[in-house]
This record gives sequence, C-alpha cells and structure tokens, in this order.
Amino acid sequence: MTDAAVRCVTVLGSTGSIGKNTLDVIARHPDRYRVHALTAHASSEALLAQCLVHRPAVAVLSAEADAAWLRGELKAKGVATTVTAGVEALCEVARDSAADTVMAAIVGGAGLLPALAAADAGKRVLLANKEALVMSGALFMDAVAASGATLLPIDSEHNAIYQCLPAEHRGGLSRHGVSQLLLTASGGPLRHLSAEALERVTPEQACAHPNWSMGRKISVDSATLMNKGLELIEACWLFDAAPEQVQVVVHPQSVVHSMAAYADGSVIAQMGNPDMRTPIAYGLAWPERIDAGVRALDLFQVARLDFESPDEERFPCLRLAREAMLAGGTAPAVLNAANEIAVDAFLDRRLGFAAIARVVDDVLEREPAAPAASLEAIVDADRRARHLATQRVSHHGMPRR
Ligand code: NAD
Ligand code: MG
Repeated sequence: MTDAAVRCVTVLGSTGSIGKNTLDVIARHPDRYRVHALTAHASSEALLAQCLVHRPAVAVLSAEADAAWLRGELKAKGVATTVTAGVEALCEVARDSAADTVMAAIVGGAGLLPALAAADAGKRVLLANKEALVMSGALFMDAVAASGATLLPIDSEHNAIYQCLPAEHRGGLSRHGVSQLLLTASGGPLRHLSAEALERVTPEQACAHPNWSMGRKISVDSATLMNKGLELIEACWLFDAAPEQVQVVVHPQSVVHSMAAYADGSVIAQMGNPDMRTPIAYGLAWPERIDAGVRALDLFQVARLDFESPDEERFPCLRLAREAMLAGGTAPAVLNAANEIAVDAFLDRRLGFAAIARVVDDVLEREPAAPAASLEAIVDADRRARHLATQRVSHHGMPRR
C-alpha cells in the first residue's frame, strides 16, 4: 500500500469496548492507518493513555473541566494534541476533512449527532452505534445517499449479512433474489430462566455474557433481547428490508454471525469466532481483507451448531421493537429512548430486570408514533420518551422480595 492510501481514522467512543478493539486492529497496521481523533465521555485517564500511544491531532471529552485536565497532562508530556469538549466538538471531528474514516462507537442516542455529521460529510462510516440508526433510520440513510458516504455495518450480525449479500444490494432484496435475512442471536446469559426467575435478575447476572465481552448497556440489551430488536430495526434500514423479511434465530454458540437466504434455496452464512475485531477489520480494510488478530475458527472444537426460535413471551423486547418498526415514524426513537432510561435504572438497581420491557411498553403506548421527517421531530420524541420513561421507572421500581 502506498503512503497516499493511508487511511486517516477518527474513533468516536475510543475508550469503549468497540473503540479499544478498533485501536487494536489499527495498531497492527501502522502502514495502513493513522489516527486523526479520539473521543470519550468522561474516561479522561483512559483517553490520555490512548493519546500517548496514538498521538491523535484531536481528542474530545464531554466536559470542559475534563478537557482542561487532559490538555495539561498532554502538554506536560510534550504531546501536541488539541483537546476540545462537548457535542459540537464531537460533530466537528466527525466531519473534519482531515479524516476519511469515522468509527461511530459511542453508545446510545448520545452518538446520533456525530454519526449523522460523519454521514453528512461523506465519510466512510463504520457504524457500531446502532441506536443512531434506530432513532433516525430514514434521515440517516438519506444523508448517506446524498453525500455519497460509504456506510459499513460493524454490528457483527449486519456485517455478516453485508458479507453474504451481493455487492450491489440496494433497491429491494427480492430484486437480488434474497428471500430472507436470518439474524442470529446468542439468546444471552438468561436464555433458560423462567419468567419468575427473570424478575429477580441482577446487573451482574445480566452483564455476564457467555460469548461476547461488551459494554454494560449492550450486555443488558442482549439479556433482554432488546439488542436483537434494535438489530432487527437496524437490518431493515441497512438492507432495505421489511420487518417480515428478517427472521431472528437463536444460536447459542455465536459462530454463525448471520445469514442471507436466497430464492433458489441457498443460505449463505458468515462464520467466525465471536471477536469484534473481525467486523472492525472488515470495515477498515473493505474491500480488502487484513489480519485482525483473531484466532482461526476451529470447527472441530465448535463441534456443533444449534438453532432455535426466540421466546417472545419471556423476552417481550424483541416483539416491542418489531412493532415499533411497523408503527414507523418516531416509534423506534421512542422505543430506544425508553430502553436507555430503563437499562440505566436497572444497572443502578432502581428497576427490576423484567420491568425494563414494561417501561418500554408503557412509553410506546403513551407516546404514539409521529412522522420522523426532521431531526427536530426525532430529538423531540426522544426527549419526551426519556421524561415519560423516568416516570414509569418510579412506578414499576424493584420487584418485591
Ligand atoms: P462502551 O460502553 O464500552 O463504550 C462507549 C463509548 O462511548 C466510550 O468511549 C464512552 O466514553 C463513550 N460515550 C458514552 N456516553 C457518551 C456520551 N454521552 N457522549 C460522548 N461519548 C460517550 O460501549 P460498547 O460496547 O463499545 O458499544 C458502543 C456501541 O457499539 C453501542 O452502540 C453498541 O450497541 C455497539 N456495539 C457494540 C458491540 C460490542 O461488542 N461491544 C457489538 C455490536 C455493537
Ligand atoms: Mg450485534
């Protein structure tokens, strides 16, 4: 690769699980990638350590006080990184012409504006932040089309489907002979618990994922199956699919990362060890392939692959997400906002595990879907849903002992 082809990468949410994995892949290929900017919410010490290694031109934190501290530390160490703070600063690095690639790996709705800014600016957008697409699907895809951005999914399932589809799959799946997308789900760590036992699940149990090591929010989402619900919505937008064309398949080994079924009966699957560095490396290098540091898949060790259908009685979040996608407009943004508030309360031990779905259901019922034609409409629905969800959290609270 010539020097002119070195990709300049901004990592939004660099101190998180996806962010760290991204920097791990980048560090394996100093001839291919240079880090332009790194960002974090409040983990200023972790961001300092990353700045010392990767020497980005810009670093961003949420609070000015944290940014001032980081500025002082970097100056003392002779590192010439510019440190800024706040959401506008995040959007600025996301659209900065000095970078051609943006990894969107902030968790939750907080990532929406910077991810949209990267899409608007025509970047290669590596999208891990599924909540951004769930909230603003139509706007986001329009922004990508208008700017000519390259959108590559990093969520392992969507990355798998992307790899299983023909190169040009826009404009309706059936035109390309695709009959269904099969979205695999590990089922999470609580797959076998009874409805009664689910009431008493603790944050520690919910976050102990059997196959993937991830941030706390997505770990809880995996345990409730809301993660699969958000992914169903994500798949509809990314691949122009109707909700009926996406089938969720529980596959506890997490080796088949998802599949595409074709009209002729072929089912194409993408497999690998559960390691996010595979989809991250795919997105960074596309259309080439590079070493991701991932162990080769040993099929003899895997030995068997199981598939079952999801139980939407015990895990109603999947159904709620599908219904929100069918309702359209602001409903997915409302679902996402209510879920973020409920998950936060659960992690804080202010809400029971099974009550997460109740809060989301209540909020969807009280906040009917409206057109999501503008960013203002989405941000407004998000704000109202968070407010309502906070009230519903106090109503449902913790289960009685
Ligand atoms: P994480 O909690 O480990 O990291 C989140 C990152 O975002 C951190 O750098 C944090 O500082 C930053 N951040 C948090 N709140 C912020 C705010 N308000 N403003 C600015 N920055 C903020 O999360 P993660 O597990 O890395 O997940 C990141 C995203 O990727 C999520 O949307 C998740 O759904 C998606 N994803 C993660 C995985 C995984 O394996 N971890 C897999 C697929 C998709
Ligand atoms: Mg996933």
